[in-house]
Amino acid sequence: MLICPVCKEKLIQENKTFRCVNNHSFDCAKQGYVNFSRKQTKNHGDNALMLKARTDFLEKDYYDFMRQYVKEKVKGNTYLDAGCGQGYYTKEIGKDFDQSYGIDLSKEAILHASKQDKHTQYIVGSLFDMPFSDESIDCVTSIFVPLGQDEIYRILKENGYWIVVGPGPKHCFELKEVLYDTPYENEMPEIQEQYDMVSQEIIKETKMVDDVWALLEMTPYRYKTSQAGLDRVKELERLEVTFEFVVTVYKKI
Ligand SMILES: [Zn+2]
Repeated sequence: MLICPVCKEKLIQENKTFRCVNNHSFDCAKQGYVNFSRKQTKNHGDNALMLKARTDFLEKDYYDFMRQYVKEKVKGNTYLDAGCGQGYYTKEIGKDFDQSYGIDLSKEAILHASKQDKHTQYIVGSLFDMPFSDESIDCVTSIFVPLGQDEIYRILKENGYWIVVGPGPKHCFELKEVLYDTPYENEMPEIQEQYDMVSQEIIKETKMVDDVWALLEMTPYRYKTSQAGLDRVKELERLEVTFEFVVTVYKKI
């Protein structure tokens, strides 16, 4: 199922090494993940701090209701979380599958994921050139990540499922009201025409968040807001926030 990122031949695993017929080889790190990225990824201190903030926020389970909802939608024997980050969704969803994979370009995130979850094979690599053979995966999830729709189409089996999760129109609207004078609702996601759309639903829950700054760090608004807006968030002790997600289920036909 895994293919060599250099020559695209099948990779065979012998102990802790993946090797192709052309003798390209990739060793598993001691935590179990394998690095297929052809770029040398450096460890940036900033990335590590941001990763920690995101991990701390996710582990408070504000997003667990969405994770459970996605878990009910997945099916098959082989699962891939494309853009798995630190594995918050992968670990929970992947445990029902015989084979579970998570891929992400962030080595720090993959390192964290592979320490927490020994069932899933974690991979450092690009979402747009994934080391999987054609039609080898039953179910792919893309949760709050860029969509490599063509690459996912290539690796999905016929009748395989692709579940896409992104922000709903009102996602974090209360936070945007603190940040901006005239907050806008998010647009609905574009429909992926090459797939058959099985369902599209909006799910939401409102929760009291006591670490509003950590929530802000999870969003793109962190870098698109005036200092005055950021200062208003820093002063908040807590905020009631709506978490709203659009969950779209596609089938490859
Ligand atoms: Zn090779």
